[in-house]
Amino acid sequence: MPSTLIKGKYVLCKVGSQDKVEVITDGAVFQKDGEIIDVGKYDTIKACYAADEEIGSDQHMVLPGLVNAHQHTRGVSHLLRGASDDSLELWLIRLLEQKPVDPYLDNMYSIARLIESGVTTVMHSHFPTSPHYEEGVMSALKAFQDGGIRVAFALGIRNQNHLVYEDDQKFLNLLPPSLATRARQYCADWVSEEEYFALFARLHKEYETNTSPTVRILHGPAAPQWCSDELLIRVKRSADEYQTGIHAHMLETIYQKLYAFKRFGKTFVEHLNDIGFLGPGVSFAHCIWVTESDIELLAESGASVCHNPSSNLRSKSGIAPINYMMANGVNVALGMDSFTINDDDDMLQELRLCANLHRPPGLGKLSPTAGELLKMATVNGAKVTLFSKQIGTLEKGKRADIILVSLESMTEPYLEPELGVINVLLGRGKASDVDTVMIDGEIVLRNRQHTRINKGEIVAQLRESLREALKPSDVVRIRLAQELRPYVFEFYKDWQEPVARPFYIYNSA
Ligand SMILES: [Zn+2]
Repeated sequence: MPSTLIKGKYVLCKVGSQDKVEVITDGAVFQKDGEIIDVGKYDTIKACYAADEEIGSDQHMVLPGLVNAHQHTRGVSHLLRGASDDSLELWLIRLLEQKPVDPYLDNMYSIARLIESGVTTVMHSHFPTSPHYEEGVMSALKAFQDGGIRVAFALGIRNQNHLVYEDDQKFLNLLPPSLATRARQYCADWVSEEEYFALFARLHKEYETNTSPTVRILHGPAAPQWCSDELLIRVKRSADEYQTGIHAHMLETIYQKLYAFKRFGKTFVEHLNDIGFLGPGVSFAHCIWVTESDIELLAESGASVCHNPSSNLRSKSGIAPINYMMANGVNVALGMDSFTINDDDDMLQELRLCANLHRPPGLGKLSPTAGELLKMATVNGAKVTLFSKQIGTLEKGKRADIILVSLESMTEPYLEPELGVINVLLGRGKASDVDTVMIDGEIVLRNRQHTRINKGEIVAQLRESLREALKPSDVVRIRLAQELRPYVFEFYKDWQEPVARPFYIYNSA
């Protein structure tokens, strides 16, 4: 692998103590064989090292690759495939109405867009599908390796409450007989625990050796409402045994909060704490409907939260209280959940949405600083993906996951010299400003052109395959979902939601 000198007008090395962003003006990074050898002033680095190649300029900002801490790595959007936005519980049923798509092409399309927005590491939550489970897992893993992106692959499983937050049989009893028969088949068609743990063991052996330094295999129990306690305990035991992490969804909607009280008489976080599930290697996407004591428990246990601002708005789930989480010492990372506000996987825009969503009205109210925001998308994300030792900062000894962002359109026609460069990035940066992306020392995007992925060809193949007529099995599934939706709506209708006075309510109950 060639050595590279990476030059920038500003090199954002890391978010240091008290969330101060450490910036070197007229700086450079030198990498060899995927390892950062040195970082400093350009003139000094240039004099010390003979690089095979020099990239960047004084029109670039250089920073650590961004970490998308929660994604399902789907390329063609749900909206385009026929699942319009809705409340999460109904939207999950709408997902069954989507036109099917080739999983490998879909993952590759997603990976191409992630790289274009400066994402070099992704937490892939492999939501368990039915059937064709192993096939989907293997094609996704192949896509990550072919695309060259670093991945924490959370292998998904669920074993209950397949249609609503209730025992399957109890819900099926509420349906007309012919619909119940078809829905029963859907509920039965999931990967078994034995198959899941066998696959996990195989993948762990295959990827968690040094032959695949850019892949980590994690457990991915879908969420506490979708997994029995026995399954969660077994997952936790296995994660400890294999010394890996766990990534799950948690408390995304008010209905999940209410369900936890119905089932356990306490919050999910309290229950998970009671069964010994929480810990430093555990991360949860969403966590919108947490209580103050939940936040304390998460902080005490060292568990992390992966915040997904766009997704939470689009699925009418609410706004996670991340200001309070961070103030109480919870590690909070940022994810896009394959469901962003412009439907485009733009990580810089997601950062901006995050910044603006957590600025409550009133002078002096708690809101994330620029350093905290950048930390969420770098250091904190590195922690949840288990790559803390390798990435998240530009420092000697770290792996060379580096992005170059063009300053040109961000700073046109004038930049006030006193304005911190991080404020420019957070206030104006877009995926279209990301010029070059390096992962593990390899340039995967150069001058906005992919070096590994033929995106045009992938889009052409997707376009072609999505025009094909539906198979009879797809028609059956779509009809099932359409018929189920009113019953799902009816099921939650009388759940006691908090009263909003006088207008909207997001996360207070
Ligand atoms: Zn998700």
